[in-house]
Amino acid sequence: MDCIFCKIVAGEFGTEFVAENQHAVAFRDINPLAKVHILVVPRNHSSNIAELEDVEELSELFSLIRSVAADFTDGQFRLQFNSGEKEGQTVFHTHAHVLSGRAV
Ligand code: AMP
Ligand code: ZN
Repeated sequence: MDCIFCKIVAGEFGTEFVAENQHAVAFRDINPLAKVHILVVPRNHSSNIAELEDVEELSELFSLIRSVAADFTDGQFRLQFNSGEKEGQTVFHTHAHVLSGRAV
């Protein structure tokens, strides 16, 4: 499968992970829409959050989201999962946007 986030997870582009755990990685969005804009991405491929059913993977994903929010924001942030083309999803590998601070 030709999935850009699978390739990032595999380290093919040398993307710096700002945080990671057994089931998920976090890296800065290439086109930041806020002062803090970090993507949190499960290591295993699924198309969007509605398709991710493994309880351990979900738990680890949210654990990393909370850790990123704690470490990179002042505790106030937005969390967004675009799911489906019609709703703005452009990369079809599950990912959470952690956003904080006004747009740069
Ligand atoms: P979405 O519209 O929710 O599918 O978001 C996909 C996000 O991935 C966008 O905000 C893009 O800027 C971001 N993105 C695409 N390619 C890369 C990349 N190579 N490294 C970091 N972020 C990326
Ligand atoms: Zn993928």
